Amino acid sequence: QIKDEKIETGWENYIVPYGRDIVSAIFPINWAVRAALTFGNVKKGDKASILKYTRERVLATGVKLGEITDIEVAAAWGAVNMGFPVLVNAALPKLEIPGVCKHEAIAGEPDISKIPEEALQMRGIKIKVKKIPIPVPYSAAFEGERVRKEDTFVQFGGKYSRSFEFVTTRDLESLEDGKIEIAGKEIKEMKEGDTPPLAIWVDVAGRKMLPDYEPIIERQIHSYINYAHGIFHMGQRDMNWLRISREAAAKEFSLRHLGVIIHARIHEDFSNIVDKVHIRITSVSEEVETLHSEAKKTYLERDERMAGLTDEAVKEFYTCLLCQSFAPNHVCIVKPERLGLCGAYNWLDCKVAFEINPTGANQPVPKGNPIDMENGEWEGVNKAVYENSNKTLGRFQAYSIMTYPETSCGCFECIIAIVPEANGFMIVNREYQGMTPVGMTFTTLAGSVGGGQQTPGFMGVGRLYLLSKKFLKADGGIKRIIWMPKELKEFLGDRFRQRCAEEGVPDLFEKIADETSATTSEELLPFLEKTGHPALSLPPLL
Ligand code: SF4
Ligand code: ZN
Repeated sequence: QIKDEKIETGWENYIVPYGRDIVSAIFPINWAVRAALTFGNVKKGDKASILKYTRERVLATGVKLGEITDIEVAAAWGAVNMGFPVLVNAALPKLEIPGVCKHEAIAGEPDISKIPEEALQMRGIKIKVKKIPIPVPYSAAFEGERVRKEDTFVQFGGKYSRSFEFVTTRDLESLEDGKIEIAGKEIKEMKEGDTPPLAIWVDVAGRKMLPDYEPIIERQIHSYINYAHGIFHMGQRDMNWLRISREAAAKEFSLRHLGVIIHARIHEDFSNIVDKVHIRITSVSEEVETLHSEAKKTYLERDERMAGLTDEAVKEFYTCLLCQSFAPNHVCIVKPERLGLCGAYNWLDCKVAFEINPTGANQPVPKGNPIDMENGEWEGVNKAVYENSNKTLGRFQAYSIMTYPETSCGCFECIIAIVPEANGFMIVNREYQGMTPVGMTFTTLAGSVGGGQQTPGFMGVGRLYLLSKKFLKADGGIKRIIWMPKELKEFLGDRFRQRCAEEGVPDLFEKIADETSATTSEELLPFLEKTGHPALSLPPLL
């Protein structure tokens, strides 16, 4: 049915086909068990703890439509046994099994149109429906959707034209909320294949609004726009890229609708700080250029402001507990010089999140008295870690991976792992699927690093942490990096070379092995010796 309706599937669309017959139901269930083992710190074979995890944290419901065969009944009981209720489109009385499923275990709903709602209710999930007056469907489910070249009506930015998006603060009095101005051609006046320039300029005002919040609101524009079906958005600032599909254009989706979306969503997400939103969207070349040179000044100022933020310069760090929904004992301590390991939350983001929602997942952590500045340990941090890890962890050392490293939930962008024989660390990013010199792939390593445990020598981190001056400072810093995949090297590029120069090892970049030079420790050591890698002459790690 999904195929007939031409609904796109795949991980980025949140619809993952596992197979056509009922036996395939084992795959999603297996996946749920893996979540318990990886994120929940549950041991293999501990059935009671696995059930507790899948019942409390994997909020899935099995749905079976149409006739039911014997083997399907058996499969349904298998799912129920893991805490997953099963819903069918037949008149069935509700059946509860206390201690196994939280709500009903089996239920029937003959009206197919009510099935999705009922399936959510069976797991106690409530959803907020966003109604935004635009002519295309709008939902988080479309966030990862791509608009292919053949399906594109017009596009902006990318390598095709100048395009940028920008949020700036104005006085409350000077703004009219909800005003959306369009300059230049609307989409319906454009020709198929056009690539005009575009500026999305958003003025916001609010009694509690601060310029520090601008980049955070601005970064949301990406997902705001992407939620619209048939609209593709990539990148940020003046590196963005938008595509409007032919289907969306046929439904008369317009540039004005981009404004409608941004206006509605900023009010929804930032009501604590923003009172008025005014948007100007222009595709007039000269205006785009003038506005861009203005925005560019601010982009640069922001970079400088962020670069100037150090761990020493602030009084407090922030907790992030968002991942506790699946890794119950994990806590991120987000610092100016170390962003959350998922790469999505830096110190400023957490600060703003706290100001917007003072009882949310990001709470300030006063650093308190320093205990050990070499390793990066503070009384206040330890206290927060203890209180927020269900009292399972008492110490975090921010600048070392060898003693009391920070924990990892499961959504790390990269994993750092000790390679004792090379006296250094290798780093592997999530996208790299090949073998690494420690004899494990990213996936295998992830299984032993995640789950909120403290594993000296292993740690999950965000990509940008590799550019931080505090990167494993107590263990020797970037000089200890002996291997990383090529793609990660390319991503870090000149910024990493600059860090190498700052650390007095300008040629380090070339001395770090990648998969083209070594995928085993036997290949790695000769490479490091040949290039004279500095890790070999550092004090022994173990
Ligand atoms: Fe928060 Fe990201 Fe850490 Fe999860 S991984 S707790 S979302 S900072
Ligand atoms: Zn996480």
